[in-house]
Amino acid sequence: MPINLNVTSAGTRENRLGSITGYAGDLHDLVNQSRCGTLKEKERCFSQSSSCDAGCALSQLAYIRDVAIINHAPSGCTAMASATIVAHTQLAAKRGLAYDTIFLGTDMDENDTIFGATIGLREIILETYNRYKPNAIFVGTSCVSGIIGEDVDSVINELASEIPIPLAAVHCEGFKSRVWASGFDAADHAVLTSLVKPPQRKTNLINFKNFNESARGEITELFANFGVEPFFLYSNSTVEELSHIAEALATVSICGTLGTYLGNALEEKYGVPYIKTINPLGIAGFEIWLREIGRVIHQETEVEAYIERERAKYLPKIEEIKKELKGLRAVLGMGASKYRVFCKSLG
Ligand code: SF4
Repeated sequence: MPINLNVTSAGTRENRLGSITGYAGDLHDLVNQSRCGTLKEKERCFSQSSSCDAGCALSQLAYIRDVAIINHAPSGCTAMASATIVAHTQLAAKRGLAYDTIFLGTDMDENDTIFGATIGLREIILETYNRYKPNAIFVGTSCVSGIIGEDVDSVINELASEIPIPLAAVHCEGFKSRVWASGFDAADHAVLTSLVKPPQRKTNLINFKNFNESARGEITELFANFGVEPFFLYSNSTVEELSHIAEALATVSICGTLGTYLGNALEEKYGVPYIKTINPLGIAGFEIWLREIGRVIHQETEVEAYIERERAKYLPKIEEIKKELKGLRAVLGMGASKYRVFCKSLG
């Protein structure tokens, strides 16, 4: 289903992509049904230890420097704020950057659930702007504000003429989706609809979506071989930088779950190619991934030369390790964010 940036909500992955969180069967059936789009959710009566859309979306947006996040929710839903801000402050400090993003909650209570809280929300947004002067304000929705039908969009629309910075609602009610990664889409949707401007020129940047700017040095070094520079999303990014991401050469994500919405939207709306290939894990995965990037940015020859140089370095090392591991059986568990491990192994 194409991405619609003319509405304020990204929708859930269940509705948009037919995503499921439970399956029982064999791999052949799973692959076939995925291809046909006929997968059905395997109902479970119990699940635990999952995240929620709101936490996912708002912590993504809090990566952006000098913005305000307002969670229109009871205080418990904003319990993650302090840990999120501490982590992001440390990530900025690692690069010697100032980080003045603030993360607030509207502290909805019983009265609010009966009488509504949009008047209070309006005052909180205005006070947040006047007190902190952020470069953008994102207002997240929660289970409570969603269930009572708070009209956050209207509040944002009314304030747009009073507050001279980007304002966006982030529709990420926790109950809405079983796929907490729908929160990534909600965050991307807010960025795309409030910050990203139509391209004026082409830059030599590649939008690179990963977590915490992991392996920033190695990835920057890798792309320097092809005369391009990665722009990491969203860790330590600014509102001004994000306004230009439609001018990039391509979008790459370290993980399809994380980057599919932003990548596809930039491709559909602005023609920025989204690299849709397998994750760069293992020798074959890394080379397929890099070759596709090379094809898209017209650097095929340079990529082949790079792969040859790197193979000469790491293949003998892998052969050495194989000898040491002979006779042993091991399982390597690597999520996509473990790209750092792979990069290190190349060094
Ligand atoms: S699931 Fe709902 S109630 Fe729980 S933290 Fe998320 S938004 Fe709040």
